[in-house]
Amino acid sequence: MIKENLATVEHNIAEACKRAGRAREEVTLIAVSKTKPVSMLQEVYDTGIHDFGENKVQELCEKIDEMPSDIRWHMIGHLQRNKVKYIVDRVALIHSVDTYRLAEEINIQAKKKNIIVPILVEVNIAGEESKFGTSAEDALLLVEEIAQLENIRIKGLMTIAPYVVDSEENRLYFRKIKQLSVDITNKNIHNVSMEILSMGMTGDYAVAIEEGATMVRVGTGIFGERIYKNS
Ligand SMILES: *Cc1c(COP(=O)(O)O)cnc(C)c1O
Repeated sequence: MIKENLATVEHNIAEACKRAGRAREEVTLIAVSKTKPVSMLQEVYDTGIHDFGENKVQELCEKIDEMPSDIRWHMIGHLQRNKVKYIVDRVALIHSVDTYRLAEEINIQAKKKNIIVPILVEVNIAGEESKFGTSAEDALLLVEEIAQLENIRIKGLMTIAPYVVDSEENRLYFRKIKQLSVDITNKNIHNVSMEILSMGMTGDYAVAIEEGATMVRVGTGIFGERIYKNS
């Protein structure tokens, strides 16, 4: 099933790139493997996908220990400051930095390990109550503040669009955050690049790519529905 799912996702990505006049290489597919067993991750890995996304620190660390070492791990979930130390030198990119206090802690832990940590600033582009992320209005200020931290490099923005039945409804939000990233680029802030735009999930990654996504985070579309225990 995973192979068929991946073929479908890959086809959809290629078609979206074509429609947008973009090269397929401009878009990285991140396989969001939360709640799924490593046997399934291995199946995906074996097809050549080496970017995986997880949203919980403990699960992420367990999977890092069990999976091949050349995987690029993406922390895409809400990150508590007291857990930063467990992942700061183990992930390729932290997508979910939404406060200066969190960035400060990442900087402290990065300094201790003598590394530079790449991050994205998470923006709550639709202003949803239920979601983490800085507001679009505050994003520039937060980027400017975080840019002062020596052991952090801002690589772009991330957003989780609203849950919608028709992905077209999210097009304006994707457009809005793309514009925000262009505006920030034009500020020429030292140590800040906006090369990455992490947006688009199973329901809306094609629209996200048409609007400029460089990373799409697909879980259900690859692994099937998630089953949560105790909920
Ligand atoms: C779970 C999750 C995804 C993947 O969601 P699907 O709808 O299953 O593709 C993407 N991004 C984040 C931040 C997530 O938590």
